[in-house]
Amino acid sequence: MLLDVRPVLHSPGKRLGFQFELDLSDAEFSGRYPVSRPVAVSGQVRNTAGVLELELTAATVLDAVCDRCGKAFSQEKTVTYGCMLAEEVQNEDNDEIVVLEEGKVDVEDLARTAFILGMDTKTLCSEDCKGLCPRCGADLNLGPCSCKKETDPRLAVLAKLLENK
Ligand SMILES: [Zn+2]
Ligand SMILES: [Zn+2]
Repeated sequence: MLLDVRPVLHSPGKRLGFQFELDLSDAEFSGRYPVSRPVAVSGQVRNTAGVLELELTAATVLDAVCDRCGKAFSQEKTVTYGCMLAEEVQNEDNDEIVVLEEGKVDVEDLARTAFILGMDTKTLCSEDCKGLCPRCGADLNLGPCSCKKETDPRLAVLAKLLENK
């Protein structure tokens, strides 16, 4: 979506709002497609004393899978992004400035990139997820499994000695 910011370009104090939905259902993350629902984007471009500032929020509910226990769950995800807009490039190296093309900016492209970069590399169903037992594969969040705790053989010898006292 191209947003025409010319109405606020030379009008300090003015702002221009925008709102749209983004389809990222074909975006792949570690072999999965977690963005099954539309991403709601809203934001504004504000002219503050002649400087154009853009800010946006992109939010959705992801189809997440816990990296530790493998449980599928819904995860709210909100990404915020901001940049400045300029009519011409002054400093190529400054990636916080997005250059307008004929007074327009591709807000859909900005939102898509910000959302994808904002995805977490690690997903956990909860901070203290206990994961699966490496021996039997049981979900340890549901309680301890029936695997016997392995006893240190040296401690076992000690225990024997104490028993025989
Ligand atoms: Zn988990
Ligand atoms: Zn086990």
